[in-house]
Amino acid sequence: MINITAINFNQQETAEMDQLKVLWEQQLNSNIPIRLTIEKVAIGNGLLGLTIPNGVFAPNHGTANCWYVSALADKISNLDHQPGQPDGAIYIDSAVPWYIGPANQIPQHQYDFFSNVLHEMGHAFGYVGLFSTNNNNDGLYGRLTAQIIPPHINLPFAFPALNGWPSILGLATLSQHSNQALVTPGTQCPAQGFTQLGQDLVSAALFRAHGGTRVVYAPGTFRLFSSFDHIDPTTYPQALMQPALPPGVTRRVIDADSWSVLRNLGW
Ligand SMILES: [Zn+2]
Repeated sequence: MINITAINFNQQETAEMDQLKVLWEQQLNSNIPIRLTIEKVAIGNGLLGLTIPNGVFAPNHGTANCWYVSALADKISNLDHQPGQPDGAIYIDSAVPWYIGPANQIPQHQYDFFSNVLHEMGHAFGYVGLFSTNNNNDGLYGRLTAQIIPPHINLPFAFPALNGWPSILGLATLSQHSNQALVTPGTQCPAQGFTQLGQDLVSAALFRAHGGTRVVYAPGTFRLFSSFDHIDPTTYPQALMQPALPPGVTRRVIDADSWSVLRNLGW
């Protein structure tokens, strides 16, 4: 069950959210109700949407020394780790010309509201790596803080204190270069990051969930909120979790490739 607190949306938009959340409810097999806030706000930075997950460190029955989005942690532990708090905060940009209506009637210049909210929920449910790079192009994980959120955006829970630990999505990601895990389990990321990790994050050689298939979006320049947190759109052009859905395009199903990544995290 997904409970949505919708802020600044009109009746049509709220009605589409009630429809699309059912698609996730059909996939997510949790006994613990999921709470999301979804707010329409001027994000800036050219982002259509932005999702910040609530987090739980090393939940019971999960993997040690890593972060889970709280919706997944609650499912794995079968308890509500943060009663009363949202499991994620989704922001939908107010400046975007959103399309509301049947998929087959979307105009070429409008962005599909249904697809994009469905997509952002995928981040709240685990499609988030919490990786970053620094000015030396070194790679880091577990080093993001609330400072990455635009100052006018109000997060309804404390940004998870990551303390240099990786996310479960990070632990589930492999590099074709070394054909091994991108992150060594049980390893905290130092403040200066890792040189090799920085190279791997922009190598287009990251994969997960499908053997050797290159599925992770990892362009040659690292882009926060975009790199790593999406499936490769060239390999999977129909995927919901590709980096940016262009105008005039709808992706209104949770496709098997996008879902398999989340399922392998513990859903
Ligand atoms: Zn996304």
